Order: sequence, then C-alpha cells, then structure tokens
Amino acid sequence: MLRKNQIERERRTDSAKREVNALAGQVVKNYINGRWVESKSKETQDIINPATGELLAKTPMSTAEETKAAIEAAKQAFDRWRRTPVFTRVRYLNRIRDAFENHFEELSEILTKEQGKAIDEARGEYRRTIENIECAMSAPSLQMGYNTEDIAAGIDEMVIKQPLGVFFCVAPFNFPGMVPTWFWPFAVATGNTYIVKPSPQVPMSQVRQFELIHEIGLPKGVLNMVNGGPEVVNTLIESPDTIGMSFVGSTRVGKLLYKKTAEHGKRAQVQAGAKNFLTIMPDADLERTVAALLTSFYGCAGQRCLAGGVVLAVGDIHEPLRDALVEGSKALKVGYGLEEGVQMGPLASKQGMENVLKYIESGVKEGAELLLDGRGIKVPGYEKGCFVGPTVFDKVTPEMKIASEEIFGPVISIIHVKNLDEAIDIIHANPYGNASSVFTSSGATAREYQYRVKAGNIGVNIGVVAPIATFPFSGMKDSFFGDLHGQGKDAVDFFTENKVVVTRWF
Ligand code: NAD
Repeated sequence: MLRKNQIERERRTDSAKREVNALAGQVVKNYINGRWVESKSKETQDIINPATGELLAKTPMSTAEETKAAIEAAKQAFDRWRRTPVFTRVRYLNRIRDAFENHFEELSEILTKEQGKAIDEARGEYRRTIENIECAMSAPSLQMGYNTEDIAAGIDEMVIKQPLGVFFCVAPFNFPGMVPTWFWPFAVATGNTYIVKPSPQVPMSQVRQFELIHEIGLPKGVLNMVNGGPEVVNTLIESPDTIGMSFVGSTRVGKLLYKKTAEHGKRAQVQAGAKNFLTIMPDADLERTVAALLTSFYGCAGQRCLAGGVVLAVGDIHEPLRDALVEGSKALKVGYGLEEGVQMGPLASKQGMENVLKYIESGVKEGAELLLDGRGIKVPGYEKGCFVGPTVFDKVTPEMKIASEEIFGPVISIIHVKNLDEAIDIIHANPYGNASSVFTSSGATAREYQYRVKAGNIGVNIGVVAPIATFPFSGMKDSFFGDLHGQGKDAVDFFTENKVVVTRWF
C-alpha cells in the first residue's frame, strides 16, 4: 500500500513538474468570462522558485482595460447567477471541491514550488482551502433571513439576505492557494460574481485552480481572475460596477486601500499585518509549549500572519524555555519543501530574505543577544535558494525593531517579563492585534488573558490560532480594518444585504 502511494505521489509530482515546466518563461494568462486570455501588457514580473532560483513563469501586469473586461463579464453574469437556485449554485461549489480534492497532491506541489513552504504545510493549506468551499456549501442555510409576524395588526416584517453584484479580492504571497477561498466561495454561493487578483509573486496556484474551475463548467463570468498590481486593484476599486473588496496583505497597503474603497463608497474587509505575542507562564507545560512555539515561529518560515512574533517568558520559566527553544531550533530540518521530511523551506523571495537579514542585523545592533544565527545557512544542492535558518534572540526589549515590527521570517525574540500584567502592557503598546496566545495550566490565567488581550484571535496553549472556515478570521487594531471578517457567517453578511420587507395584505 505504502509503495502504491509512493508511485502515485511520484506520478503526480511528475505531472505537477510538467505542468509548471510547461509554463517556464511564459506569461500566465487571465481568466475572464470563462476564457483564458493573454494580457497585452508588456510589463511582467518573474515567478521564481525560491528554493532553486529557477524561473517558473512570468506574471503580466494587466491593464485597466483588461480589468474592466473582467468587471463587465462579472456584471453581465450577475443577474442570471443570482436567479440560479441556491442549491444549484452550491452544487457547482461541490464539483469544484471534488476537483481540488482529486488534484490535492498536484495543487500542493505547485504551491510549494512557487511559494517555498514545506510540502506538508502546502497540504495543510489545501485542506483549509477545501474546508472553506465546504463551509460555503451551507449557503442554503447560511443565507436564510428571518421574520416577525404582526409587527402591527396584520402586518409582517422580514429580512432577506440578497447578493449585491461584483466583489473582488486582493491576495498576498504567503497563502496563494487558500486566501482567495476565505472569500469567493461565500460570495459565489450567495449569488454574487467575483474577481480574484492573486499576488503577482505567486499566481500559479490560482492559475491551476481556475483551470479546474473551468473544467467543472462553472457558468462564464461568475468567477474571473486578473493578474497584476496596483493598476488592476485601483481599477477594481474605482469602477462604479464593483461592490466591495476583500484585501489580505500588509498594513501599509491595506490602510491605503481601505481609505480608497471608502472614498468610492465600497464595502471593504482588510486583513492586514501582524506582530503576535506569545506569553509563557511559569506553570506552562514546557515540552508541549516548546513544540507549539517552534511550529508557530518556523512554520512557513515565519511568513504567516499568525506566526509567533515575540515570546514573553514570565518569571522562572525564562531560562529553561530559552534553552529548550535553542535546542529545538537547532534540530529543525531546513531544505527544499518538495523533499519529504523538510520542516522549513526558504523565504518566498530574495527580497523577503534580505528583509529578514536586515532585521537580524538590527537585533544585533540594538543589543539583543543572538543565541542562534540563521544567517549564511547552506542547503546543499540549493545554493541559489532564499534560505535563512532558525534564529533565536534573547535579552530583547519591547522598543527594539525585532520586538515591535513584523519580521515575516524565522526569528524568535525572547523578552523576559516579571508577570502577566507586564506581558499584557507590552502587547497593548504594540499597534498590531492579529493573534496572541498564552501557555499556562491555570484556567483563571487563561480566562484573564482572553478577557483582556486586544487581539482578534486568542490561543490557549495553541501556537497558531487559525480559525476554521465556520469561524471568522478575526483581527484587531492595525491588523484589521472593517467590521465583517473573512470566512463563515461574517463572510455571508459581507456579501449580502439585509433587505427589510414589511407587508400588509387586504
Ligand atoms: P502586500 O500588501 O505587499 O500585497 C498584498 C496585495 O496587495 C498583493 O496582491 C499586491 O499586488 C497588492 N498591492 C501591493 N501594493 C499595492 C498598491 N500600492 N496598490 C494596490 N495594490 C497593491 O502584502 P504581501 O507582502 O503580499 O503579504 C504579506 C502581508 O500580508 C503580511 O503583512 C501578512 O501579515 C499579511 N497577511 C495578513 C493576513 C491576515 O489575515 N491578517 C493573512 C495573510 C497575510
């Protein structure tokens, strides 16, 4: 059985390689109105495998005209799609779900190739991708309104949740397979039409997903994809024919676009950057905590909005925790994500790697103690890869850059604090509020933490607080702008209007 799985995996790997190689040096296409369309733009961005340095393909910086064609297609498709019965709509989603499931291994491998994360992490990402589609398949229930009889004599009132039109998402580079599915399955299941704008660094996962979406026969114009950068995004925001934007990316760009969407009277949900503090109480279970922290800081090479940012070691646990973290970090297997057993891949780009190296340098300059230095790590056979090894700093203080800014790399910064109050003061002095976790064996401490800490996703003895598809992917402060989040019921509310109908019959 094991051998059979191995053969199957190799077959799929070969086909994924062929798939991707077939595109080598080519410019990826847009998917508009049910057709693959070449962009006329001369401007492109290279898509590089960050482990090997190999050129996979190029992303076109599509034009405003091309973006307008996608908006027009989605606009034209809207009326027929909203009139398509909800059960029929979700049956299409069911077919997309099956297609993704049937191509699970191939999709995961494409993701690793373009983004760098270890193959098991890519599989984890696709599991979540599929779960979001599965959750949106509950639209027949999720989209139900409500009513009250006799709000006055013989008069009834009800709320119906209606779709609104054309929505779009602007996606980041760190979860190229999953992030768009926090949104479009909910938008489409509730009767809207949609445009995906992938990150130009990693569009190939979306290209393959759209090939599968095309194959299952989704009506044209319901889902579209336009590749590019700011020109595409600005056109989507400025168009009188779009309703709202779901953005996931940095706080700098997110804030800019939130303002712009407001100026154009659009709905917006903006999931932005992070600096997540993990507080370790003296009564925490050391062994399990260390395992959770290593995953939190080094998963996806630290390029997660839910990645650990700073360890706040409370009281006596500081020393044993610090030593165990260094030991655990040294043992981590770094390499090419497609090789089984590799625990951490490269940074997703050269620029990302250089950014992380600058942060490590700044930590040294600002006086933190560098216990483990991931700079200059060599991965035999992958000398051109964007690798930075696990890095651990102790004696960090809250004002240092490594303690206050999002590094987006495999760096643990440890701050030693006296008690929980001091930990929470440090957390609250930071502008971000995406996620925060406490490690403790005390229920009272855990409750105090969830009650007081201003972060959208709180973990208790959990290192990566990733909400499943039925829950909102939350965020607070500079990590989120808007009020309705991605996923679950929040997404359904974002993509529908509560229309009130008051009736009296004579
Ligand atoms: P980014 O802000 O650079 O880019 C995000 C998207 O915005 C891309 O599609 C990009 O093409 C587009 N964009 C960039 N500049 C633009 C401009 N001036 N005008 C219009 N569009 C523009 O983010 P990134 O580097 O791709 O992603 C990493 C960031 O995303 C990190 O800060 C991470 O924390 C954050 N993130 C947040 C969440 C969350 O749920 N809060 C999830 C994943 C990633």
